[in-house]
Amino acid sequence: MPLYRDVGVVVRTHKLGETDRIVTIVTQDSGKVRAVAKGVRKPGSRFGSRLEPLSHVQIQLYRGRDLDIVNQVELVETASALRNNLEATTDGLAMCEVVEQLAHDREPSPHLYRMLVGALRQLNTAFSPLVLPALQLRLLATEGVGPCVDQCVVCGTREDLRAFDVGAGGVQCRAHKRGLGISGEALNIVQSILDGRVAVVLQRTSPSVAVVREVTELARIAMEHHLERRIRASSLFKAPHPG
Ligand SMILES: [Zn+2]
Repeated sequence: MPLYRDVGVVVRTHKLGETDRIVTIVTQDSGKVRAVAKGVRKPGSRFGSRLEPLSHVQIQLYRGRDLDIVNQVELVETASALRNNLEATTDGLAMCEVVEQLAHDREPSPHLYRMLVGALRQLNTAFSPLVLPALQLRLLATEGVGPCVDQCVVCGTREDLRAFDVGAGGVQCRAHKRGLGISGEALNIVQSILDGRVAVVLQRTSPSVAVVREVTELARIAMEHHLERRIRASSLFKAPHPG
């Protein structure tokens, strides 16, 4: 079996047999990789604790046909502050889940790896509840399906934007509003994120809980809408109904 090395983030694990675990890793150069980690649930395992979701690891694997086999793991960085903050951990796991769904098996997607590592680092060093929605919105923009948030998707006006309709792909003015209502402050934050000014948003704004909730909700439904469409499209493609 050929041996290879990569860096990646563990995005999911599940148990296999009595002492093993299957880990899913979004890597820098090898895409999404699923690998068996043997014996990691035994007490005193050499690298069990390094193969938890959220872990940023350097890893050596034997290439298998379907599943690879973990040979060595080193932590690239520890994320202790993140793990000690329940809200940050929850958001970090949600980020892992989204990136796992966007990544394809063995198809290199270094931007997904880089964006996930950057967002996890941000959660670890300076937690903000806007890190998760910012990542989701930037991922959508990178996939080419970022929502239109600068003008009404019905009439094109830039004035008095009041609502967000995920099905229509963006915001609407007062006359055409449908879907989720959105405040001017929340919309400003979403616009700044999509314009690439994430650092400014995270450092300079301290929005109210209500505004954070609006931004979070908008990003979540936009991402879910995209993932559902993609999953539907790919399952139709892979398993068409006979006749
Ligand atoms: Zn309009």
